[in-house]
Amino acid sequence: MRRNRNVKIVATLGPASDDYEMIRALFEAGADVFRLNMSHGTHDEIRKRHEIIRQIEKDLDSPIAILADLQGPKLRVGVFARDAEELEVGKPFRLDLDKAKGDAHRVQLPHPEIFEVLEPGSHLLVNDGKIRLKVEKCGKDFADCTVVVGGRISNRKGVNVPDVVLPLAALSDKDRKDLEFACELGVDWLAISFVQRPADVEETRTLARGRAAILSKIEKPAAVMAFDDILKVSDGIMVARGDLGVELPVQNVPPIQKRLIRACRTAGKPVIVATQMLESMIESPMPTRAEVSDVATAIYEGTDAVMLSAESAAGAFPVEAVRTMHNVAEEVETDPIYRDIIEAARNVDRKSVADGIVSAAREIAETASIKAICCFTQSGTTALRAARERPRVPIIALTPLVGTARRLCLSWGVNCFHTAAVERFKMAVVAAAHAARLGGYATAKDQIVVTAGVPFNVPGTTNILRVAPCDEKLIFSSDPG
Ligand code: PGA
Ligand code: MN
Repeated sequence: MRRNRNVKIVATLGPASDDYEMIRALFEAGADVFRLNMSHGTHDEIRKRHEIIRQIEKDLDSPIAILADLQGPKLRVGVFARDAEELEVGKPFRLDLDKAKGDAHRVQLPHPEIFEVLEPGSHLLVNDGKIRLKVEKCGKDFADCTVVVGGRISNRKGVNVPDVVLPLAALSDKDRKDLEFACELGVDWLAISFVQRPADVEETRTLARGRAAILSKIEKPAAVMAFDDILKVSDGIMVARGDLGVELPVQNVPPIQKRLIRACRTAGKPVIVATQMLESMIESPMPTRAEVSDVATAIYEGTDAVMLSAESAAGAFPVEAVRTMHNVAEEVETDPIYRDIIEAARNVDRKSVADGIVSAAREIAETASIKAICCFTQSGTTALRAARERPRVPIIALTPLVGTARRLCLSWGVNCFHTAAVERFKMAVVAAAHAARLGGYATAKDQIVVTAGVPFNVPGTTNILRVAPCDEKLIFSSDPG
């Protein structure tokens, strides 16, 4: 389905969006990628959502990416006898390994590894950072804290420990089961939460065995510090502003967002800006002006995708939220200042023949009256390189591998077509012209640029660039090969 924008929209599915009609309405309103959050929902619910998406993909004949988001080592307190307590500033509060239900003086923190690394002076944040505890004294099974910022604490609230690299495996037992389940289902992307080191990404990749691309969620100070190395081993990145803004002072988030977007573009890997983008739309059909501005800013910064979380998963206005993002994107992308910013930020380090070919394709397409850049791609790399150039004309990615077509749905400006395998360049040109016309990117009178690698069906061989007419008769009369 043709969209009049380049930035992509990721919509999280949940109880507010779990039937065919709603998910299809989200897709038609503009969602390009659906996120299945493994932190919520049973495997049966997730399987059902996955099946519905694949059905819509078939019904509309348009590849759709599915991203499974693994919970990661999220720390949580235990439960309270009265379900919740009010913690007052200055009062002591103890965390320990005792399974007994909590009260106003203590609660279980069922993670022995954490007590090993806590030190007097460390901070623990509870409930999205709303409550702040300072460790005064600790041992291998307890931490006596002082309440620095008080508030309501209730059953199983999340705990963040920003000051230390936690001696935790990237994937819990639950994550490993969820990963296998998601790969079996056939998701396209796996997101890993609370990545701390490149090894966490590599471990996930080993378990995924090529069945899904790996996206690292940057939400720990340690991940920000090790970002360059994490990016090298990841296929994509999420600026996970929710936890990032808890683990670091909130004002640190915007510059980190800018830096990460820029680095991802240089590397030619997709980046998602996530969390609280249209938060008020969980309850209201209208976003705040600040939220609209936030979405616009991420797009001006050149992000590949913007994401909805609870807005589409559990809110009252999921379709309106997607439509809002779509409208903001159309507006930003037609602003001449947007083009100026995107071109000024083009900072690609071209090393290979393929890099040169896609760069030339962009230059030709922007100087002549050409309607699309069509890339034949096996692994998706050539299309990613084209996206990195952020051309003015649409990119059409053609691939015989449905997994490649789906994964590319996350990348800026890439319109994906799943085609039959081609053996000869002439057939590639015909297929490209057909896709360009079918998708409404070009008419028979227009021209396109086609890039491909010969021999076909070998990844990493892009070595041909051809300007071609979209009219089949002309292709055959003018094509020497
Ligand atoms: P989450 O990740 O929604 O899984 O917590 C995103 C974030 O932390 O921003
Ligand atoms: Mn998070």
